[in-house]
Amino acid sequence: MSATQTYAIALVFMAMISVGLMVFGWFKKSNPLGRSYSGLMMVISAWIILFAVVLLVPESLTRLFSTLEYMAILALPVAWLMFAYAFSGIRGWNTPGSIIIILVLPVVLFVVAVIYPDTGLLYNHHAVFDHVPQVIFPNRTKLWLIIHIIIALTYFIVGTGLMLRKINNSPQVQSNQAVVLTIGVLVPWIGNITFILRIMPFHNFDLAPFVFALAGALLAWGLFYNRFINIINLAQRLLIERMSDGVIILDKQNWILDMNTVVQAIFRVQKANIIGQPIQNLLKPFPEIVPLMRHTTRKNEEIIIPQGNSMRYYNLDISPIFSDKGSNMGKMLLFKETTELKETMKRWEDASERARDAENLKSAFLANMSHEIKTPMNAIMGFSNLLDDSSVSENERQEFIDHIKNSGTSLLRLIDDIIDVSKLDSGQIELKKEAVSLRRLMSELYAHFSNEILESGRTTVDLVLGEDISKLNYFTIGDIERIRQVMFNLIDNAIKFTKTGQIEIGVTKQEGPFLEFYVTDTGIGIPYEKQQIIFERFGRVATTTQQEYSGTGLGLSLCKDLVRLFGGEIWVESIYGRGSTFFFTHPYQIPKAYQQGIKDFETIDLPVSPRLD
Ligand code: ADP
Repeated sequence: MSATQTYAIALVFMAMISVGLMVFGWFKKSNPLGRSYSGLMMVISAWIILFAVVLLVPESLTRLFSTLEYMAILALPVAWLMFAYAFSGIRGWNTPGSIIIILVLPVVLFVVAVIYPDTGLLYNHHAVFDHVPQVIFPNRTKLWLIIHIIIALTYFIVGTGLMLRKINNSPQVQSNQAVVLTIGVLVPWIGNITFILRIMPFHNFDLAPFVFALAGALLAWGLFYNRFINIINLAQRLLIERMSDGVIILDKQNWILDMNTVVQAIFRVQKANIIGQPIQNLLKPFPEIVPLMRHTTRKNEEIIIPQGNSMRYYNLDISPIFSDKGSNMGKMLLFKETTELKETMKRWEDASERARDAENLKSAFLANMSHEIKTPMNAIMGFSNLLDDSSVSENERQEFIDHIKNSGTSLLRLIDDIIDVSKLDSGQIELKKEAVSLRRLMSELYAHFSNEILESGRTTVDLVLGEDISKLNYFTIGDIERIRQVMFNLIDNAIKFTKTGQIEIGVTKQEGPFLEFYVTDTGIGIPYEKQQIIFERFGRVATTTQQEYSGTGLGLSLCKDLVRLFGGEIWVESIYGRGSTFFFTHPYQIPKAYQQGIKDFETIDLPVSPRLD
């Protein structure tokens, strides 16, 4: 077997390996580089096969196969460059326009080679073999050969540069993998150099095909076995995209390389408009954060970003990204939202503060309550003892009995309040639905309290009925007992806190389907900041003036709960030192039986609170 045949057989063997690698790359569909790699190996395989064929076919066919082989030789730098573009991750290179630009020069060379055989481009690579006549390069041949070499080298240099840069800049490449890939990328240069300089150490055989096949195998190992850019890489991207935290990747100069959708939502920006800009542009509203980007250590900062009417809290984690070799590659910013945590903590703090307040109020209430209970109890005990005394006159006896009765009444009221509070708490109070004559209700209240004022001997306070009362010819559905209870509390307070002046009570019809009850006094008034507290349970105004008034702080909170149960609201308008007006609303619902309207209330024989339900 001649040396040429042996060489050709070695070539066929190499071709088989290359084809195998091509098929392998083609089926690595999950790897974004699978197809490009397969394309590169296809060109290498074609070249090696045609190389072998040229050596083996009769001389008459040499020209045809040499032409085909030259096509493959020209396709090699093109395939290399395309693979390098895909490898480097540069987008937009594979548009029809870019591919045409890449193809122009090799196509021109091929056309020249075919039209002008004397350039020697089709043959000179085989000039060394015995059966191919030696070509003595004329000038023109040399010129075209140099052009060929320049074009091919340019493509190889650009491609190699792109790939080396990518290998160096990919933090996910392990160091041994980087070595394999670098060798894979550089090995073809041995082929290039031997090919150009015609270095043939073994029997004048061209080493280039072997070297390229070896490069293919190394690349396959570096790319697929070690999973360079593969499913894990894609999974990591997907993970970042799906994260509930915002992620921004910066390069060494703190320019934005990438971000996920959460960041776009946080800052209300479009990724396309902000990628490639310095991070300062995105963080303009947070000038205090920007200096942190200069550090190369991990930093943590809380930032508040307004969103609509609310504030969103974020914990910003800035961590530097280092390559395997320890060089600083850039930064990763992680925005973790803490708004909910903050709100929960705030709610918790508020709740514990409220619990503390309630606790304090309860202790105050108990202290108060013992006083409230003890005073009437002492009176009852004291006066009952006195009753036993035979020396007590009939008048005195009557007076003692009145004291005992009054104390008993206030004790009873206190107990009633406590029972109501607990009933309201456990939702046991059910409102009746009966026809309530507003005129009768107001008249009764007026009669009751003017009598009380009269009996107490207070001449400095007047009770008046609101003007509208004479026109109050209407009814509503409601629970008269409970409405009366609220009014009782309010009027009681008004009398209690008014030394001189006037107390006015009344009810008006509102625009909506509501009635508005009110009790106005010219009493001591309530400081503005206490006007909410008094509706809280056990809430009292603790000024020195108010200390002298007895009370438990239960009445208004009961009123508030009851009014809410009616479906209304209760509030106070007051000027400290001048007086107060308490208002509450109640739904206005005309009972069916009275819908025709009642001309004159007095002439109608009113059923006493008929049950409507
Ligand atoms: P109590 O009167 O038993 O203390 P309330 O709940 O009825 O309980 O009232 C709570 C507090 O609201 C009172 O202690 C008083 O400080 C204030 N207050 C209520 N009504 C009036 C009023 N008409 N004028 C001034 N202060 C009032």
